Amino acid sequence: MITTDILIIGAGPTGLFTVFEAGLLKLRCHLIDALPQPGGQCSELYPKKPIYDIPAYPEILAGDLTDKLLEQCKQFEPGFTLGERADTIEKQDDGSFVVTTNKGTKHKAPVVAIAGGLGSFEPRKPLIDNIAAYEDCGVEYMIKEPEMYRDKNVVIAGGGDSALDWSIFLADVAKSVTLVHRRNEFRGHLDSVEKVQELKNLGKIDLITPAEVTAIHGKGKVESVDITKIDEEPVLIETDHFIPLFGLSPKLGPIATWGLEIEKNAIKVNNALDYQTNIPGIFAIGDVNTYPGKLKLILCGFHEATLMCQAAFQIINPGKKNVLKYTTVTGVDGFDGTRK
Ligand code: FAD
Repeated sequence: MITTDILIIGAGPTGLFTVFEAGLLKLRCHLIDALPQPGGQCSELYPKKPIYDIPAYPEILAGDLTDKLLEQCKQFEPGFTLGERADTIEKQDDGSFVVTTNKGTKHKAPVVAIAGGLGSFEPRKPLIDNIAAYEDCGVEYMIKEPEMYRDKNVVIAGGGDSALDWSIFLADVAKSVTLVHRRNEFRGHLDSVEKVQELKNLGKIDLITPAEVTAIHGKGKVESVDITKIDEEPVLIETDHFIPLFGLSPKLGPIATWGLEIEKNAIKVNNALDYQTNIPGIFAIGDVNTYPGKLKLILCGFHEATLMCQAAFQIINPGKKNVLKYTTVTGVDGFDGTRK
C-alpha cells in the first residue's frame, strides 16, 4: 500500500504543479497516470508545439514545459505510479481513501486530487478477435520499457509518429523490426518517414504496406502473427511482440462511476471555495472539472491546484493555522515573507 498526503490522479501539468504547491505546505504527493510518462496532453499530444500563454514564458514547447514542471517539483520528491489507470476508490472508516489501479496497485491518502484532464488515454485497439488474450503477453499498446525488446522479434503496426519513432528506435535494440501500415503513405513527420525508408534500405526494418495484422497465434503468449496485404493471402510471421500503435483516445473512464457529480463529461466542483467535488476530500482540478466560466487552459489548472492545496492542508492538519508565505523573501529587508 502506497501512502501519501495528497493522491493525485493525473500527472499532466496540473498534477505536476500540485506537487510543488503542496510541497510548499509540507504535504507529500503521489501521482498515478495511465500513461507511461508524465506531462498529460503536453507530452502525449503536442510535445513539440509552442505554447504562448504560460506566464513569464513568451514561448515554450509543451515538452519543455513538462520538463520544467518536473524540475520544479522534484525537490518535494513525489512518488509516481505510471502506466496504470486509477480504477476504483473506497472510503475508509478513518475518512481516508484507497485508490486501486487496473494493475492492482493500492494507494491510500486523506485527500484525493483528480487532475485527470480529458480522461485517461486509452489505446485504440485493432479489431482482432483474440487480441485481449495476449495483452501483456506479447501485445503492448504503448512502450514503457524499450529494453524489454532487446534481441526480440517485434511487429509494430501504425502510420503515425509513434509507430515510426519506435520502429526507428527499436531497429537498434530488437533482433528484428517489422513495420506494418494499412496505407503506403505515413501520417508522421517527413524526416521520420525518410529515416524509416533509410533503415528499410539498410535491411534494419522490414516495411510491409499496405497491409494489416489480421491474426495472432501462440500458446499463452504471442508467437506469430498473420500479416495480410490487400487482396492477398495472409503471411505468417514469427514474432515475440505485436505492438499496435494506433493512437490513444481520452476517456473519463472509471472515474465517472465514483459517485461524483458529472456534467458534460467533466466533474462539477465548488469553484467559489476550493475545487472540492460533491464528495468531501475529493477535489477535481484542471481540464477535468467544470464550473461556470471554466476555461480549459494550463494556467487555470495551476491556479486551481494552488487553491486546492490550501484546502487540503486544512483537511490533513485540522485546526492548524497555515500562515501563507511568499516562496522567497531573500533580499527584502525586515520582511519575513508572511502576508498580512
Ligand atoms: P491533462 O494534460 O489532460 O493530463 C491528465 C492526465 O491524467 C493524463 O496524462 C491522463 O492519462 C491522466 N488520467 C486521467 N484519468 C486517469 C485515470 N483514471 N488513471 C490514471 N491516469 C489518468 N492550453 C494552454 O494553456 N495553452 C495552449 O497553447 C494549449 N494548446 C493546446 C493544444 C492542443 C493540441 C491541445 C489538445 C490542448 C492545448 N491546451 C493548451 C490545453 C492544455 O493541454 C490543457 O489545458 C492541459 O493539458 C490540462 O492539463 P491537466 O493536467 O488538467 O490534464
